[in-house]
Amino acid sequence: MILYEHLQVNELGHLTIGGLDTVELANQFGTPAYIIDEDVVRASCRTYRNAVQKHFGEQSYPLYASKALCFAQMYRIAAEEGLGIDCVSGGELYTARAAGFPAERIFFHGNNKTDKDISDALDMGVGTFVVDNVEELGALSCAAASRGIKQRILLRITPGIDPHTHKAVVTGNIDSKFGSAIATGQAMEIVKKAIESDGVELVGLHCHIGSQIFDIEPFEDAAKIMVSFIADIKRELGYEIKELNLGGGLGVKYTQYDREIDYAEAIEGISQIVLHACEQNGVATPRIFIEPGRSLVAAAGITLYTVGSVKEIEGFRNYVSVDGGMPDNPRYALYQSQYTALIANRAADPATFRATIAGRCCESGDLIGEGMDIQRAQRCDILAVLTTGAYNYSMASNYNRIPRPPVILVKDGKARVAVRRETYEDIIKNDVL
Ligand SMILES: *Cc1c(COP(=O)(O)O)cnc(C)c1O
Repeated sequence: MILYEHLQVNELGHLTIGGLDTVELANQFGTPAYIIDEDVVRASCRTYRNAVQKHFGEQSYPLYASKALCFAQMYRIAAEEGLGIDCVSGGELYTARAAGFPAERIFFHGNNKTDKDISDALDMGVGTFVVDNVEELGALSCAAASRGIKQRILLRITPGIDPHTHKAVVTGNIDSKFGSAIATGQAMEIVKKAIESDGVELVGLHCHIGSQIFDIEPFEDAAKIMVSFIADIKRELGYEIKELNLGGGLGVKYTQYDREIDYAEAIEGISQIVLHACEQNGVATPRIFIEPGRSLVAAAGITLYTVGSVKEIEGFRNYVSVDGGMPDNPRYALYQSQYTALIANRAADPATFRATIAGRCCESGDLIGEGMDIQRAQRCDILAVLTTGAYNYSMASNYNRIPRPPVILVKDGKARVAVRRETYEDIIKNDVL
């Protein structure tokens, strides 16, 4: 099961990505390695951009939530495709600027920006801050005012949607470390404070209801609640909110059991709900933004590993151990995320071997997945895990002092290194010897 069109099996029975043989890629770049099909990333950027401009208007653009997959060339791709970006830390901002990403298209998120983050971001000329709380609002307003500027901001609002129960559960997300809840009155309070603050210009509101969501309904519910809050602000404070950022969160197909979402259709659906809600509430349609992360990059990526051992424990299960694991993909250990895997050098064989794929760390929970149906495996096989473009490299660690794998970009039938493999020298470079 290879899930996507950019993945194929060639005449040797090898898995290919973007037309390149993954067994050759493993030979050339070593394993583990992240391989990202750049053409697929660019195609999803375009799908989003076209749909956003068609349905949200010419001056809108999608914001790439860059925590999903973050390195200099990825920011360059986002810039070339006309996207804005969402950054959540000083490190992401630094990488984006080092790659030459235009500062005015950066939205700076985070629920605890330090004074240094705020000051660095102001110095860079970051276009928009998404302000999380009143303390940040105060600190930002002071810092901006002392520089004689009025910083554009959105306020992060908690609409009270639980995306996993489908319906608007008005308590769902109130208990969150992010943003100010409408239901508790804190949202209206922070709006008031923002309007009165000298150093900021309140242009809009932001919400983000969750991730890996397949149903469009929670987005529609969030949009309705946010528009009705915009109407409340107009009525109570006489202030017009001009922008509405509805966050990210659209789901991605990781296994044959997941649905594939038509993202253009989802955007059209969201825009209709916003237009309708604006009409009903008697407010002007705001400029709408969305912030996809996962759905822009996940499908484009795979991870290649080399199999080290195959342990069949009679009456229990089969373990296939690979030369990576939770340091390069912590998502199963963290949230039991499901993946699809296959033996890349025998990809045409039937997947009749049920295995637990284990990593190399000294940690029983170091697994890529359990109950995975793959081809019969043996030492030196290449194992490919699919749909690893999002939240793999960006979540990677050096646990057990394992160097991070390289990121290889495939484009027009050619492969190039975008992030070099870490070396042991890299691992100790900050150790005081
Ligand atoms: C993580 C995040 C996103 C992206 O979510 P995906 O599920 O990857 O699309 C967008 N906006 C904010 C504020 C986020 O924290």
